Amino acid sequence: MMDEDDHNQKCSACGGACCRSFCIDIDPPQDLDGFQDIKWYLFHRGVTVCLNKDGSWEVDTAIPCMHLDENNGCRIYPDRPPVCRDYTLEDCEGDDYAEVFRTPEDIDAYVEKLRKEGKLKPGRIFK
Ligand code: SF4
Ligand code: SF4
Repeated sequence: MMDEDDHNQKCSACGGACCRSFCIDIDPPQDLDGFQDIKWYLFHRGVTVCLNKDGSWEVDTAIPCMHLDENNGCRIYPDRPPVCRDYTLEDCEGDDYAEVFRTPEDIDAYVEKLRKEGKLKPGRIFK
C-alpha cells in the first residue's frame, strides 16, 4: 500500500496521464475482420490500442480533460466525478501493457506474428 507522499510523487512524475486521455474497453479481435476494426480505430489520430496482460483490449484516446490545469491539478477536485474519485494509484497500471499499437501497420505486424506462430488459421485466431 502506498502512502500519500509516494502517491503524490508518482503522480507528479507521471504528469497526470490519467487526466490526459481516457480508455474504453473493446471486444478482443476474434478473426481478421476484428483486426480490421482495430485498424479502423488507429486511422484516427491520437488513438492508441492496447492489449493488456490479462488478454483484455482497450482503445486509448489522447484527449485531455478540460478541467486539468497547467500544473497537472484538477480544477474541480472537490466535485470531480465518481470515475475520477474511485480511481486510485493501486488501479493505475501505468504503461504495463502486453502490446501497444499506434498505427495500422502495428496491427499488420502483430497479425503476421500470430500467423508465424501458428495462432492464426484462415479467418480465425486460436489462443
Ligand atoms: S494515477 Fe497513475 S496515471 Fe494518474 S497521475 Fe497518478 S501515476 Fe499518473
Ligand atoms: S475531472 Fe479532474 S480528476 Fe477527473 S479527469 Fe478531469 S482533471 Fe482529472
